[in-house]
Amino acid sequence: MSSSITSSNAPRAPDAKRAPLMSLDQALQAVLDAAQAVSQTEFVATLQADGRVLAQDLVSALQVPPQDNSSMDGYAVRMCDVQQTGVRLKVTQRIPAGQNGTALNRGEAARIFTGAPIPPGADAVVMQEDAELLGGTPGQEPEVQINAVPSTGQWIRRSGEDVTQGAVVLPLGTRLDPASLGLAASIGLDQLKVVRRPRVALFSTGDELVMPGQVPPEKMRPGAIYNSNRFFLRALLLRLGCEVTDMGIVPDQRDATLAVLQTAAAEHDLILTSGGVSVGEEDHVKPAVEALGHLALWQISMKPGKPFAFGQVRRVSAVDAAVDETGHAFFMGLPGNPVSSFITFMLLVRPFLQGLQGVLQAPAQPLRLQANFSWPKADRRREFLRAKRDGAGGVDLFPNQSSGVLTSVVWADGVVDNPSGQTISPGDWVQFYPFSEWLS
Ligand code: AMP
Ligand code: MG
Repeated sequence: MSSSITSSNAPRAPDAKRAPLMSLDQALQAVLDAAQAVSQTEFVATLQADGRVLAQDLVSALQVPPQDNSSMDGYAVRMCDVQQTGVRLKVTQRIPAGQNGTALNRGEAARIFTGAPIPPGADAVVMQEDAELLGGTPGQEPEVQINAVPSTGQWIRRSGEDVTQGAVVLPLGTRLDPASLGLAASIGLDQLKVVRRPRVALFSTGDELVMPGQVPPEKMRPGAIYNSNRFFLRALLLRLGCEVTDMGIVPDQRDATLAVLQTAAAEHDLILTSGGVSVGEEDHVKPAVEALGHLALWQISMKPGKPFAFGQVRRVSAVDAAVDETGHAFFMGLPGNPVSSFITFMLLVRPFLQGLQGVLQAPAQPLRLQANFSWPKADRRREFLRAKRDGAGGVDLFPNQSSGVLTSVVWADGVVDNPSGQTISPGDWVQFYPFSEWLS
């Protein structure tokens, strides 16, 4: 993977007018090619490592479970003693979890509890429901009657059946989740080597934007809207394990945009913006990035999300020692329309951030579902329609597909990926990507 974006990554020059737009697949490839994994690592407590990405293979120094042990409360027996029902055995020992028994001789049984080691010589466990403890003669060992003939190995959990010594239980590049933390703990690891969190500077552009809490709804000036993108973008970044510097709202002015980009580049791996990457003269982000660095791609043949931009901004001030020495911060400019921002984040920013963290990524697998709707107007661009599964193999469409309608994303549980030039009739098979795949 290359750390810089060269023109070879950009099949189409950003400024070319009327040329066919770059496809989403090409854009994704360019983004992934540029995403070099952050090289710095750190140790974190296993208890604190949920969501972090492993920077080492986790190799087990022991067998899990360490010894053969019982998976039932009952009696450990020797198979040769229990070939028919009704056999009586002397109960010569009691083995609770956490203690070792002694060798079991012929004609003997060991009272055993779940998790306790199987004593040498025993080769099956009879659960207590299949056994009857008989009142023994005082001073003598009690006897147990075995009421069901066991099979060899019955109710025995074998040493190493979960993890064998020397096995890689989790490979480098795994994003840790609750179950994997448990697995790491089961092989005795209380600290894990993980990739440093990517540092992301986030800002929104738009003179119309107001932060919720600053102005109450009844006092909003005409034309003003609340900044919604900041909220979901920040939350998505945090879910992906990023450290976020929220740089607020930047006015639609060239100088202000240049200044914030330069500040952000110094100490971040990625500058993520929303708004201001379209074609109007109030859109200052794209020209500012071109002035301070390089734009590798701009505009993708997708709907929503066309104005997406990707590039890099040079670091002019002293490079923070903790940031890698590439001399630039990456830049991703999302369209301002909330739905466009959300979808381009999922399809382009998320894979890029996974790449920055060295996460092993498998391409998302779409579901095949049947449309419960008609989509009579084909578009030249590949469309991502907000939709919801009906639980019976079908999919419903949100009625308003405008890129400004964030309600569509909240209502939906995924998107229908509709190829360019395609109409959809009820009953047609469509490809559906559930949001859950992207949010995990
Ligand atoms: P732009 O990409 O800057 O041309 O913005 C496109 C549309 O998205 C405009 O209607 C903006 O008002 C709206 N918009 C831009 N940024 C935000 C934001 N942070 N939150 C909500 N809407 C936004
Ligand atoms: Mg704007």
